[in-house]
Amino acid sequence: MYPARQIWSDPAEFIRSHDGARPVLFFAPSVLQDTARRFQRGFPGRVTYAVKANPDRAVLENLWTAGLRGFDVASVPEIELLREIAPDAALHYNNPVRSRGEIARATELGVRSFSVDSHSELEKLLALVPASTEVSVRIRLPVKGAAYDFGSKFGADAELARDLLRRVAAGGLIPSLTFHPGTQCTDAAAWEVYIRASAAVARAAGVRLSRLNVGGGFPAHREAASPPDLEAIFARIAQATREAFGAAPPALVCEPGRGIVAGSQSLAARVRAVRDGGDVFLDDGVYGGLMEFPQIGATDRYELRDPVGRPRMGARVERVVFGPTCDSLDRLPGTLHLPGDVAEGDVLIFHGMGAYATATLTGFNGFGVLERATVRSLCG
Ligand SMILES: *Cc1c(COP(=O)(O)O)cnc(C)c1O
Repeated sequence: MYPARQIWSDPAEFIRSHDGARPVLFFAPSVLQDTARRFQRGFPGRVTYAVKANPDRAVLENLWTAGLRGFDVASVPEIELLREIAPDAALHYNNPVRSRGEIARATELGVRSFSVDSHSELEKLLALVPASTEVSVRIRLPVKGAAYDFGSKFGADAELARDLLRRVAAGGLIPSLTFHPGTQCTDAAAWEVYIRASAAVARAAGVRLSRLNVGGGFPAHREAASPPDLEAIFARIAQATREAFGAAPPALVCEPGRGIVAGSQSLAARVRAVRDGGDVFLDDGVYGGLMEFPQIGATDRYELRDPVGRPRMGARVERVVFGPTCDSLDRLPGTLHLPGDVAEGDVLIFHGMGAYATATLTGFNGFGVLERATVRSLCG
């Protein structure tokens, strides 16, 4: 999908030599590998990757090259894809709801770690998985700090989690706990609260945890002025685990999606029209790679270039920006501050677009096909 025969030095070089019939997704493998290594260096436990954030083969292969050996998967097709790319990888099936057929197939493909948040799903696992299987009970708390709340769909409250944990241990499976603080979580305190609650649940259950999976949620760089301080979050997780569990803490696992992959891709949309009155129409929008903007806000890390890749320097003005479909919801939230000399044919490059952009792409209204290009650097 990313033609190996050509690696461009940066997006500008590609733009100069293309007519721009489609939006372009730029992928910088070096950025992805650097971020994966940053997690592995800093996180006080095992780093796995949440495949749903971006299941692109090139992404998965580069993570493998960077040393990642564990993946959080949510479906049989994701498991089968990983088995092609990384036959020996540890796969954690942490979608808490699965059919019996999916459990059987996952077991067949060597998955030995599952999460649960209800008795109904735990009984399915007890009936179907071998004894050496880890079952992580997923807890939820009313914690803020993330861009949106994951607790509304999954997670058991403290009492249910205690009961599930006991049942896992009594059933002869390996007991662990897991949580997800919510995606794009910029507040390290969210992990700390969850880690303390996890220790309390384990104590109440009288069960010694094998592992504690602190989820994903690690923030990507979405606001130019505030790059995330991952190391501060890692340090807080390590300290909270020591304090909450004392002498014999469980091994830690994390499963970032966004935090690992977002920075490695930038999305370039072409200005199709600057309409009477100044509204800007792009060739990609909320049914395409910009799907997340209405939900978690637009990033302010974008730059406008002319059709041959040179930066537009005009004084910034506020513009309403629409996507290409005929649906009136296809509009970016609020306004963007674009150079006043924005013109038809220009290219608007959004940075930090590697997570939940291509994974959720639709072909609505005949749009949504992206060109892909591999680059050494995403700047310049
Ligand atoms: C989506 C998901 C993740 C990754 O979340 P990010 O916010 O992208 O880091 C991790 N674990 C589970 C169980 C998930 O569903």
